[in-house]
Amino acid sequence: MEPLQAQVFNRAPLTGGDYAELPLGAVRAAGWLQEQLQRQADGLTGHLDEVYPQVMGEGNAWLGGDGDAWERGPYWIDGLLPLAYLLKDEALIKKANRWVEAILSSQSEDGYLGPATDHPFVYGLQRGQTHDWWPKMVALKILKQYYLATEDPRVPDCLLRYFRYQWQTLAEKPLDHWTDWGRWRGADNLDVVYWLYNLTGEPFLLELGKLIHSQTVDWTALFQEGAVFSEQGSIHCVNLGQGFKAPAVWWQYSQDEKDLEALQEAVRTIRHTVGFPTGLWAGDEKLHWGDPSRGSELCTAVEMMYSLETMLRITGNPFWADYLERVAYNALPTQVNDSYTAKQYYQQVNQVSVTKDWRPFSTPHDDTDVLYGTLNGYPCCLSNMHQGWPKFTRNLWYATRDGGLAALIYAPCRVETRVGGIPVCIEEQTQYPFREEVSFRLSFPKERKKRFTASFPLRFRVPEWCLGLTVLVDGQAVEIRPEKGIVCLEGPWKNGSVITLRFEAQVRLEAWYDQALSVVRGPLVYALNMEEKWEWKSFEGRDRYYGEGAWEVTSDTPWNYCLMRDSLKPEDCLVEESAVTSYPWTRAEAPLHLRVPARELPHWTVPEAISYWTEEGNDTGREVVLDLIPYGCTTLRIAAFPSRIIPWDLSYREPY
Ligand SMILES: [Zn+2]
Repeated sequence: MEPLQAQVFNRAPLTGGDYAELPLGAVRAAGWLQEQLQRQADGLTGHLDEVYPQVMGEGNAWLGGDGDAWERGPYWIDGLLPLAYLLKDEALIKKANRWVEAILSSQSEDGYLGPATDHPFVYGLQRGQTHDWWPKMVALKILKQYYLATEDPRVPDCLLRYFRYQWQTLAEKPLDHWTDWGRWRGADNLDVVYWLYNLTGEPFLLELGKLIHSQTVDWTALFQEGAVFSEQGSIHCVNLGQGFKAPAVWWQYSQDEKDLEALQEAVRTIRHTVGFPTGLWAGDEKLHWGDPSRGSELCTAVEMMYSLETMLRITGNPFWADYLERVAYNALPTQVNDSYTAKQYYQQVNQVSVTKDWRPFSTPHDDTDVLYGTLNGYPCCLSNMHQGWPKFTRNLWYATRDGGLAALIYAPCRVETRVGGIPVCIEEQTQYPFREEVSFRLSFPKERKKRFTASFPLRFRVPEWCLGLTVLVDGQAVEIRPEKGIVCLEGPWKNGSVITLRFEAQVRLEAWYDQALSVVRGPLVYALNMEEKWEWKSFEGRDRYYGEGAWEVTSDTPWNYCLMRDSLKPEDCLVEESAVTSYPWTRAEAPLHLRVPARELPHWTVPEAISYWTEEGNDTGREVVLDLIPYGCTTLRIAAFPSRIIPWDLSYREPY
């Protein structure tokens, strides 16, 4: 099949957007990432209609039934559809497309889409508020992806009619008319409006964009002011993940630099207020100081990833690629079990047991939140978690406005597309993020001439943590001049050309909440390697609301250690490599171990009762060498360590 040509760049007057998404299916996963996607297909993503039939089954109102009518059905398809096309899995494509057909055929004369009849409350279902703008925003994301996979001309037509309905209705019934969520999440709506504008050039879409923006929470102002981060219990954790993209999406039209500056301001403020070393924040469900015992919702991880992918594509700023890898390669892999059959609602950075016991969460869902199950916590995550890896895979490559391609985040994959009309295939061979070398092998499947060459720009990100970069083309070192964190190579390229990037990484210490220290190297955060004992526990009585049961995980491994901040040097931390297997996100298969000097902290017996930053006294015990492994390989862990500093020297400075 000829590659599709669905990539769309920003059209005047929109600014930015020099990177465009490739058609869905152009980038295919390889190596461990392919295994990850296949586990999703074999696990909950491919089978959610069987596991959660009361919501995802035939009765769903998006399929025409009288069952669940709100966000959950669209959430699932927003992840299932890209997964199905990435794997070219015909059965899953059929499953996802049934929902697409139902959405398309639900459109009424006035352009309205989706369930239209409110039904009375039934336990476990959301059958009211069918006209709410918010769940429609998820359906818009599905239709956009379906178009990027198929170029089905019904999609732009359907979206234009829907946006005309929205344009006529919003003045009377604004984004928060039915529920509050639309006001916080309006950027998801706006992003599809601008995409359709770029595709069609319809001028009314820009006017609709202004209206949607005016009814969306002013995230730029919130980020500049910063009170949402310092005020405890201020806003909802997932809204922050979704709203993060809002200033960048709007900037395309506003062209006001303060929108982009507000994003950097937010990142700086988050670091020492609500932030976690995983790139996420304490939000269970409202925001709190980033105490590593607090919770972080799975929806926050996948929504923040989607925001970062959107921000990266719009701004081209590689800072967002580093941030995206921090979330994807640390928080995401551990919040779902290895067979992709159970998830946590909240994860903790310092998580020494996964049991049905009290935790310091503001919304504790009968203490089921940290367990690995299906309906435990709240069912949004079970429905929404599926988009994380598939969309990440989609964003491994972009088309560039000057007729080239760009790899701004790294993972094993293969891209097949056209450049200047010529079919090209690039195999990205790497064990990233567990190794710091990435190779790209180019081939031109239609070109048989020996001397054939083609010149086009290939762009690569230089990670923020990279201390030195070597670039080889066909084995020869080439001189590079990175600009704003991007290396651009112009070719000429021939069949079999190989580009190799070698990044130099070093162990770093980062200070987070209360100066707790995290050990970081390259894109990975490291955590204490703890034995895991997994036990299935059946739910009884009222707890059956949370499913049939869930997995608990406990350990006898001691976890109470501190790091000596002033004397711990990078060269004291030994890096040990072992083979990268097909599924490396487990303790047993962890491809990297760090041996890090530390001290026992005998009085630290209750995880949430500790002063993380204290001068060195007689509270520490023996010196030990800790075995740390990538955070994403752990289930139980300490990843934010108390730090002990030299007495009398309480001055603040960034560690290395
Ligand atoms: Zn959720």
